[in-house]
This record gives sequence, C-alpha cells and structure tokens, in this order.
Amino acid sequence: MFSVQNRNNNGPCFVTQFSSCASKMKHIMRSNWKIIHSDPLLREVFPDPPMTVFKRAPSIKDKLVKSFLPDTKERSWLHKDLWGTYKCGSCKHCESIIPCKTFLDLRTQKEYKTNGFINCNSEYVVYRLLCPCGCFYVGRTKRKLKERFSEHKYAIQTNNEDYPMAKHYREIHHSDPSSLKVQGIEVIKKTVRGGDRLKRLLQRETFWIWSFKAMEYPGLNEEIDYRPFL
Ligand SMILES: [Zn+2]
Ligand SMILES: [Zn+2]
Repeated sequence: MFSVQNRNNNGPCFVTQFSSCASKMKHIMRSNWKIIHSDPLLREVFPDPPMTVFKRAPSIKDKLVKSFLPDTKERSWLHKDLWGTYKCGSCKHCESIIPCKTFLDLRTQKEYKTNGFINCNSEYVVYRLLCPCGCFYVGRTKRKLKERFSEHKYAIQTNNEDYPMAKHYREIHHSDPSSLKVQGIEVIKKTVRGGDRLKRLLQRETFWIWSFKAMEYPGLNEEIDYRPFL
C-alpha cells in the first residue's frame, strides 16, 4: 500500500511486510520507477521513488490462538442500559456537554448511535467540538474528556493557534470559549483480550475525521493521520 506519509524525500512510502523477497521487491520498484515518470501527471505527483518501509511479519506467537473465556459476570443496569453522552453532574465542564444518545453527520444528517457510555470523566474517547456557527472539530483523548476539553478552552482564551478551534474562535467568536460544546462520538472499551487500546483510539479518530469530512469547512481539522492503520 502507498502512504502519504513522508520522511526525508518527497516520494510516497511503500509499506509491506518483511519477507525473504523484500529486497527483490525494492529493486523491482526502483528499477521500474521510470514507468511512473513516463506519465507527466504521475511524475509531478511522485517526483521521487518510494521509500520502502517494512512491517514485522506475523510470528508464530501471532498465529497461536489465545485462550478466551467470555465474561460471564452479571453486569449492573448501569453497564447494560446507559449509552450515549452524559454530564457527570459535578464538574464545571458539564454545561458544555451535549447530552445525547445519537449524533448526526452534520453534512448528510445521517444519524449514528453512540457505542457506549461517555461522560466528562470518560477516557479513550473520540469527541466532536461544536461552535455556535456550525463549525466542528473531531479529536480524541486517552485522558478524561473534561481534561482535554479544558485544554481546548484554554487554547481559545490564550489564542493558541496550534488548536484549529482556537484559531476559529479568534476570528469569529472573540476568543470567548463559553459557547464551545462537546459531544462524545465513540468510546474505546477495554476488551477481554486486551490489545492496543491507544492504537484503536487513533484509528477511530481517523475514521471519524474521514467520515465527517472534518478537513473541509465547516470541519476545522487540519490533518488526518493514516499511520495508525500501518
Ligand atoms: Zn461534568
Ligand atoms: Zn464558529
């Protein structure tokens, strides 16, 4: 697969699993790069040959099946029935939470159901910031949602232009974060099997940025990162 990630050259990355044929593949690609260059458009898009990046190939360990016993513990009504975004009821950011069980793609009006319980204290959350004029920003946090939200508000107050919403608030809303709202989109749950929860969080953030077209106005995201899928 080709990635838009660049390192030191302007070419794409060719990402593949390491194998005994790896160096042959690299050679074939480099020696045939002139085919790409024979096309004027492709020559402009891909001025340099790709940098080859190898992923670790599956090991015996990966192929062995882990023991898995389903969680038979009786869950409380809290876990069973509460899903959606809620205020925690005891923090200063509650007023900025949009309580909801579903959320909309603001372009298509398609409705999505929140996949679990999210409140100010939830961790590993993909969230959406919303301003009064309809602009939005998709973000994620592995810390408590209220901690990350507080950073966004502080960035607005201090005109920190590293934060796209802060830039927007300086231009349109007089750097006053009191109107900023936040909504939970997805919570990454711990699984019985474990696994890389942070990686899944990053993947889901990328998914929602892509799905909501958050890099196009009124979306305010400035970048999308496909590396979590490599
Ligand atoms: Zn709260
Ligand atoms: Zn706005």
